[in-house]
Amino acid sequence: MALFIVRHQHDPDHCPATDPYMGATLLNYLSRPNVRQHGIAIQGEAVIKGEHTLYMIVDADDAERVRAFMQPFANAGTVDVYPASTCARVVASGGCAAPLPVVDDVVPALDPEDACQSAIEAGLVVHRAHPLNCETSVAALIGGVVMPNAHFYVRNHFQIPRLDPATWRLHVGGVVERPLELSLRDLTTLPSRTMVVTLECAGNGRSRLAPRVPGEQWNLGAVSTAEWTGVPLVEVLDRAGVRAGARGVGVPWRRRRPACGSPGDDPLRAQPHARRCAGIRGPARLRDERRAAADPARLSAASHRAQLVRGDRGKMG
Ligand SMILES: [Zn+2]
Repeated sequence: MALFIVRHQHDPDHCPATDPYMGATLLNYLSRPNVRQHGIAIQGEAVIKGEHTLYMIVDADDAERVRAFMQPFANAGTVDVYPASTCARVVASGGCAAPLPVVDDVVPALDPEDACQSAIEAGLVVHRAHPLNCETSVAALIGGVVMPNAHFYVRNHFQIPRLDPATWRLHVGGVVERPLELSLRDLTTLPSRTMVVTLECAGNGRSRLAPRVPGEQWNLGAVSTAEWTGVPLVEVLDRAGVRAGARGVGVPWRRRRPACGSPGDDPLRAQPHARRCAGIRGPARLRDERRAAADPARLSAASHRAQLVRGDRGKMG
C-alpha cells in the first residue's frame, strides 16, 4: 500500500452538502465498509471551513485506484491525487526529494520507515532515522529495572535485518574440527542461560562532552536493562571442536551500511580483535541472533534487541 493525499474541490454554488440526499449519498460512500471494498483505507479526512475543499489521506495500491474511488467527487467538482510519504520516511530517506533507502539489498531488512515510526510511537527519542538510532527517554529510565521492550534504546550501524526462522542458519567455521551449520531449531535444543543484563552504548552521554566529538549525540538514554536468554557461545564452540592454535572468534556479517554521518564512525569494525575474542565465554552474539530468528515479526518494532526480550517473556508467560 502507498500513501496518497487527495484534494476535492467543488463550486460553492453547487455545494453537494446543501442537498440532503446528495450529502447522505456521499457520507455513505465514505463509510469504511464501502471504502474497503474499493481497496482504499482512509487515514483522515477534513473539509476546509468555507472553502468547499476536502482533503483526505488514504492508503491504496496505486493512484489509479484512488482516482477510480473518487469518481463521485470528480463528478461534483475536481479531484487531485498526490503521492505522499510519512515524515518518518522522508527523514529516513534523507530529504523530501531523496530516493527511498535501499532495503533487501544484501540481506532482507526492515522498512526504515516502519522501524522509525514504531520508535516514535513508542516514545523513543530518535537521533537518526536511518540507520535507526534512538535513546530511551529519561522519564522511562527512572524507577524501573527491566525496560519494557518498546522503550529499550536502539543502536544500529546498519539496516535492521529481517530474519526468517525457517531458513536462518548459524555457520561455524575456521580453525575447528567440525564446521557446523545450525538452524534455529538446533540452537533451541542446546543448553541456554537467562541473565538480567544492562546494555549501555559506549557513547552514552556524548552530547555532554566538551569539546564535541563525532558520533551519535546521545543524551543519557543510550542504556537499558533487559532479561536475556540464549546459548553460551562456548556450547557451540565445544560442538565444533576448537583446534589448537585458534586465537579468537570473529563474527562476520553482511549488512549494507546506510550513509551515517562521519565516515570514521564505525566502532564495530574498529573493535580490536582481542575485544571480540573476549566474548568467547559469553553468549552475546548467539543470543542476539537466536532471538532475532525466534520471532522476526517482532523485529518490526523499533528495537532489535528489545523485541527479542519480549519474545522471551512471551514464552515464559
Ligand atoms: Zn461545499
